[in-house]
Amino acid sequence: MRTKIANASLALLLASFAMASATVFSQAAPAPKSPKKHWQPALTADAVHNSAIVIDTHADTPGRFVDDAFDPSTDAGKGHWDFAKARKGNLGAEFFSIWVDPTIYKDHYTRRALDMIDSVHEAARKNPRDLVMAYSAHDILAARTGPHPRVAALIGVEGGHAIEGDIRVLRDFYRLGARYMTLTWSNSNELGQSSGDLKPGDNGRPKDPGLTDFGRDVVREMNRLGMMVDISHVSDRSFYHALVVSRAPVIASHSSSRAITNHPRNMTDDMLVALARNGGVAQVNFNCGFISNDYLAQSKAFEDAHPAEMKRAQQLWLAPKTPETRAELDRLQAMADAAIPRPPLSALIDHFDHMIKIAGIDHVGIGSDFDGVQCLPLGIDGVQDLPKITAELTKRGYSATDLKKVLGGNLLRVFTEVERVSHQIQNEQNPDKRPEVEIPHSK
Ligand SMILES: [Zn+2]
Repeated sequence: MRTKIANASLALLLASFAMASATVFSQAAPAPKSPKKHWQPALTADAVHNSAIVIDTHADTPGRFVDDAFDPSTDAGKGHWDFAKARKGNLGAEFFSIWVDPTIYKDHYTRRALDMIDSVHEAARKNPRDLVMAYSAHDILAARTGPHPRVAALIGVEGGHAIEGDIRVLRDFYRLGARYMTLTWSNSNELGQSSGDLKPGDNGRPKDPGLTDFGRDVVREMNRLGMMVDISHVSDRSFYHALVVSRAPVIASHSSSRAITNHPRNMTDDMLVALARNGGVAQVNFNCGFISNDYLAQSKAFEDAHPAEMKRAQQLWLAPKTPETRAELDRLQAMADAAIPRPPLSALIDHFDHMIKIAGIDHVGIGSDFDGVQCLPLGIDGVQDLPKITAELTKRGYSATDLKKVLGGNLLRVFTEVERVSHQIQNEQNPDKRPEVEIPHSK
């Protein structure tokens, strides 16, 4: 029964795709009635972008919902994400990141995660014309259908420390709508080693134990639940362990290419090939520090030249936020921004291009890190600028079909497959084919 339901959703998904494409192509190039050759105008980059299901798998906006009482129906100002910007960028679905600062919220990670999850549900409840909660690939398509398409809001938990070592919390997060979890953030946790705090081992090489037994259990449970396993932030060994354990394709929700920008948060070419073989998808991160070696080097030089300011910024970050501390943090940030130039947009496009060459067109997508990073490349000031990426990739020769995959099709495919594997596992574990009992409505 469950497998059939999964197949039905997949069929609907494919049908919707066909319908969406048919609409677009029928507008741009009507089907010829005779076998005579007809001139067919090429789709413009804007037409491609505006007819695609555009999915971003990482925005840290919930931090603003909770801490700043930010309402996305108002202007986000310098923020990267609000409804007007999302409409301009033709965003179809956002995975809102539930990121719990491991220092500030020590000993109550789960509580903080619950507050953030609530903030996403509340944003959707208060803005039903603009945002709708989504829990499946099918829900994303449904949100984009009809005369008033809405942005589908999904939840991704960033960092397994949020479950505080308790797999029951993982299940609760799923029940509350979480559809991916990043196994670690920059801190190693009960699940395994992060790329952010690797220590040198006896041989001088980084000590990387990879995933723990608990981490492997979590991956298996995520497969059963139908939650995407996210390997952004994890150490290289944890990445390979996750691939071995997971029965479903995995995602990198916001990671770029290490061959181009040498940062441990990025994926090596070998990792990209392994991820493609697993059927997964790597979603390119826009953070300047992950897409430009120049920016990385200049940031390092700035930090070395301003140790007092760096220490103060760290103190302010960890301190309770007041208008005064925020103003001081803004001032320090402005000082850094003035000293370190933003990389050109081509730096970001180079990452898309390279990752597509290595992993293939079916295995790359968008994982912006909006509202989670201080610096984006020139020309990208928020979600409203996503069409510029489509335009630049078009200039580099990518077709409409290719671009629709990158803009969201690949993520939808992986999400659908993760759902299918989940149904398969649940069916193996409980082959009882009886449908759920229907409870009659009482008055
Ligand atoms: Zn992150």
